[in-house]
Amino acid sequence: MKQAIQPNYHITTVTCACGNTFETGSVKENLRVEICSNCHPHFTGKQKFVDAGGRVDKFKKKYGI
Ligand SMILES: [Zn+2]
Repeated sequence: MKQAIQPNYHITTVTCACGNTFETGSVKENLRVEICSNCHPHFTGKQKFVDAGGRVDKFKKKYGI
């Protein structure tokens, strides 16, 4: 018989600062995060937006908009 190696890894509820909760696998029973996938774009959106903006600019130049 094989014994499955299962460290204390289980599904836990993560509570985000934005009020969103979601479940994820973790060794911790309860997690609190400040950023989740729900509000993530609001926090890192700047970087992404800049990148996306650059692409849009290229797109505009390419098509002469
Ligand atoms: Zn959040």
